[in-house]
Amino acid sequence: MKTSIATVSISGDLREKLAAIAAAGFDGVEIFENDFLAFDGTPADVGRMVRDHGLEITLFQPFRDFEGLPEPQRGRAFDRAERKFDLMQELGTDLMLVCSSVSPNALGGIDRAAADFRELGERAGRRGLRVGYEALAWGRYVNDHRDAWEVVRRADHPAIGIILDSFHTLSRGIDPKTICAIPGDKIMIVQLADAPRLEMDLLSWSRHYRNMPGQGDLPVTDFMRAVASTGYDGPLSLEIFNDQFRGGSPRTIAVDGHRSLVSLMDGVHRLEPSIAIDVPEMPDRVGVRGIEFAEFAADEREAAELGDLLKTMGFSPYAHHRSKDVTVWRQGGDGGINIVVNTEREGLAHSSYIVHGTNAYAIGLKVDDAAATSARARALGAEPFEQERGPGEMKIPAIRGVSGGVIYFTDGGDLSHVWEVEFETLPASGEKGAGLTGIDHIAQTMNYEEMLTWVLFYTAILKTRKSPMVDVVDPGGLVRSQVIEAEDGGRLRLTLNGAENRKTLAGHFLAESFGSSVQHIAFATDDIFATAQALKAKGFRPLAISPNYYDDLDARLALDGDLLKRLEAHDILYDRDANGEYFQLYSQNYGEGFFFEIVERRGGYAGYGAANAQFRIAAQHRGMRPAGMPKL
Ligand code: MG
Ligand code: MG
Repeated sequence: MKTSIATVSISGDLREKLAAIAAAGFDGVEIFENDFLAFDGTPADVGRMVRDHGLEITLFQPFRDFEGLPEPQRGRAFDRAERKFDLMQELGTDLMLVCSSVSPNALGGIDRAAADFRELGERAGRRGLRVGYEALAWGRYVNDHRDAWEVVRRADHPAIGIILDSFHTLSRGIDPKTICAIPGDKIMIVQLADAPRLEMDLLSWSRHYRNMPGQGDLPVTDFMRAVASTGYDGPLSLEIFNDQFRGGSPRTIAVDGHRSLVSLMDGVHRLEPSIAIDVPEMPDRVGVRGIEFAEFAADEREAAELGDLLKTMGFSPYAHHRSKDVTVWRQGGDGGINIVVNTEREGLAHSSYIVHGTNAYAIGLKVDDAAATSARARALGAEPFEQERGPGEMKIPAIRGVSGGVIYFTDGGDLSHVWEVEFETLPASGEKGAGLTGIDHIAQTMNYEEMLTWVLFYTAILKTRKSPMVDVVDPGGLVRSQVIEAEDGGRLRLTLNGAENRKTLAGHFLAESFGSSVQHIAFATDDIFATAQALKAKGFRPLAISPNYYDDLDARLALDGDLLKRLEAHDILYDRDANGEYFQLYSQNYGEGFFFEIVERRGGYAGYGAANAQFRIAAQHRGMRPAGMPKL
């Protein structure tokens, strides 16, 4: 499998782009004509630079408004093509993309277009060049790959073939199976892009919102299965026009792109085992059972404060590390909730504390096979994490996650004994818990630009799926939210929140904690009212919810008066969907906008109380230190 990416997909100048693309492991690049306009060298210089990075030029593009023209425009189009052929030869590439015409002068007609391509094929063939024809979704006469294929078939010239682009096919809802009727050796190159489902004109959708396969909502895997069935084994090239990517880090976007291609082809290979697909060996996506632990980095003073807060939620210190300043707080017994508090003066926990202040810098995921997860993550370009182990410490596979945090993987094997092997159990406190049974979800906050990176990261490595993106209204601006959930009933739910500015609670948290990621941890209870009662007895102070919320709730959902009173008495938020009910209770802010949440799901309620978010956020803003005020 040869991987390629169009230079337009990435930000930076041409040098930065090529360095990032090569470092991410691509084999080739598509060169856009615009790359020359901004570059102070000749086409030959560009070609040399590309090859110096160990890359090849897979495609030169675009050549527009070529086919179906009357004279004298037709003759001029051929002259234009000859000049581009000169340029391609200087550059050192043999394939040109011609996209279907949008010219008002074009006359249409399959045979007319085929005749034009036959002649273009003659001219290209004399120079040892090839031309691929791509149906733009908004082409004037040809806007469907089936028609482009008919043109190519009738042109019947060895230098002329078709170029497929997943966006143009899938955005129009064309069944990708129709690709199976095209012979693989007539496909010159395959371009890939995904996109979120949006209601807008095809051109704007394509120019601004394309994203990497797996980041959007289009059936790119079905498209690739059809392509694979043709026997095509040429380059797979990302062609992503996305405003966000143009402003993002070239390195990150290139790594995401490579990850998306490898993960896509690995998925196709598993669905179509009989088709030979040259894709790196790696384990399949791994099932995830739940969250084994969340680990905070803190100093001693703040660890004591955090401990006090944990106590008011019914946690007790359970064990202390045999050789490190690390304490595990537990509730719900074995298989319940483990909160690890790390006050070491060295290692990643300490550096994370120095940068971000007290923060949940690591999470441990319970997966079906920890070693396989880490192998797959590495094959997909994740950064492994390892630090020096003391005597008797276990090697727990780990990778770097959002904001330089760490994700550990444990499974049912030896790793399940980590609490006994590495830790010394403390005498039982005798304190009763508050009925918390597990971690319902963890919310990670990030800059909006990073969300697609992490959506792809989680879904490519673990058997998880993503929900559509939703907007959460914060008085300070919009926050985008997208959920990652275990696919097969596992207990993993991550809500990723993308902050666009620092006036939102999420943005404030991000700015003031210098980009830490876990903003809230939601614990599950089977009885929210009993838990609320127990919390009160332990001195827990919930986030105070405005009486207006309960008036609104009553108006919206017409709740039983008694239930409404109980909710209000305990500052509990309520939601319901077709399947069940949801109860939420929040802690006050801890530090710069971190908080805990306690939830009860009844029936099959599948959401996160989105309707309540604005009330919760308003209450949190009231309790927040105004931006710019010194810390007390
Ligand atoms: Mg294209
Ligand atoms: Mg939540």
